[in-house]
Amino acid sequence: MEPELGHLVQGKRIAVVGGAMGGLAFALALRKLSVERGVHPLPSIQVFERDVSAAERADRGYSLSVRADPGSMGLQVLQRLGRLEDCLKHNEPGQGMHISRHNFRPLLQIRGGEVPGLPVPRIRITRANLRQALLDGMEPEMIHFSKTVVNAESLPGGTTRLSFEDGSSGVYDYVVVADGANSRIRRALLPDQQLHYTGYIAVAGKTPPLKPLPPELLQGQWLMMGPKGVGAFVAVMNQAQAIYSLSFAAPKTRSAELQAILNNPQTQKEFFDNELPKLVDGFVEPLPALIRATDPSSLWAIAANDLMPFANDLPGVVFIGDAWHAMSPFAGNGANMAMRDGLELAEELLNPAHASLANAQEAFSERAAPRSRDAIKDSHRNLGMVHSQGWRQLVTAALIWVTSRIIDIVLWVKGSQGLGTASMMRLFRAAQDGSGSTKRVA
Ligand SMILES: Cc1cc2nc3c(=O)[nH]c(=O)nc-3n(C[C@H](O)[C@H](O)[C@H](O)COP(=O)(O)OP(=O)(O)OC[C@H]3O[C@@H](n4cnc5c(N)ncnc54)[C@H](O)[C@@H]3O)c2cc1C
Repeated sequence: MEPELGHLVQGKRIAVVGGAMGGLAFALALRKLSVERGVHPLPSIQVFERDVSAAERADRGYSLSVRADPGSMGLQVLQRLGRLEDCLKHNEPGQGMHISRHNFRPLLQIRGGEVPGLPVPRIRITRANLRQALLDGMEPEMIHFSKTVVNAESLPGGTTRLSFEDGSSGVYDYVVVADGANSRIRRALLPDQQLHYTGYIAVAGKTPPLKPLPPELLQGQWLMMGPKGVGAFVAVMNQAQAIYSLSFAAPKTRSAELQAILNNPQTQKEFFDNELPKLVDGFVEPLPALIRATDPSSLWAIAANDLMPFANDLPGVVFIGDAWHAMSPFAGNGANMAMRDGLELAEELLNPAHASLANAQEAFSERAAPRSRDAIKDSHRNLGMVHSQGWRQLVTAALIWVTSRIIDIVLWVKGSQGLGTASMMRLFRAAQDGSGSTKRVA
């Protein structure tokens, strides 16, 4: 006999820990696909989120690039979830990624070609707007804010008990863990799966609204190789602000020290006055001006940590997004991956070919792990590239420039067909590899 459609989730109690990109995409996808396919009774999907509301904490205010290339596909996920139109309304000015040395003279511009069925190949959107767009697609009763999960415990029979900070608890048939890179649930259930420090930290900051925005930022975002092993990233957020990071190699302990410095208004100001100018030294305008315009209280430290996807085979518990395959901002892909995980997990749970949740979970993991691994490897290439120095940086820059010219020629030959982001990225990675810039510091 054919299994009933949605037999794995019918009437099941499904808990999602973490209501951001991965958790919300999953909840929205499972609900939407279950309704579309007539699953009855519908699964009960409850998302538990630590934040008090959808409004972002100050340290989480940044903008994200969401793309359509095969290595990302965040835009296709948003389209499938019916949330793309909303996101397009919040698209930031300046599209495309530019790679340059310290001088805002692009060695390479990655804009992405036309993607059938999509109005644009990439968008830049604030994390808050993306999260709100996902939330707006959900029934409000599915999400519970100020609900921090403090423990998960496997029970006989395959269910899981979640305990909350407010003293309450609940038992669920299936738990989707989407609580981010520092996942508390991962620490509780799989203590050996720890973040790996890549050897780099970044200081990130934001300017107040700028009138006008520098023309360089209106062109798009910039990933830059500085003269002294300092990398820079700069982009637009909230239509008028600049968000940037300055990154460098440092021992692991420096990240916690730096965070402590930046959390204290007194030392934060000292860092802003004395240390930040040293980091930006050698970059050309408008970067130094953007940094001078920063509100020191917006500075925060980011350790570039990651974690390769691990065996995702606990009974009744599945990890998605950064909780499963944390990637540093240098991947520029973690939100794309997390949302894609959410959709693909929902698809596998509703796939009638799977006899059990374990089979569905295995199929999901086989789909999602390779692309997440690739994204993390890309981030290592980017780290090597932006922090390269001396002759290594010159070789890297030359190879990227040559790659860019090849792309121009291909574009010219192919005419309006354009060259897709995937092809560009393949060439770009080849250039990075050719320069040896994949070498990691730690
Ligand atoms: C500066 C910066 C720039 C970035 N740029 C890009 C980019 O351009 N493109 C891109 O694709 N990605 C980018 N990323 C990465 C991206 O933001 C993350 O990879 C993505 O947000 C991961 O989504 P997630 O849902 O897995 O986890 P998160 O976004 O970390 O969400 C986890 C959620 O779980 C909640 N939570 C945590 N613990 C608990 C608990 N115990 N109980 C309940 N809730 C809990 C948190 O409050 C949070 O809402 C960037 C990251 C940074 C820091």
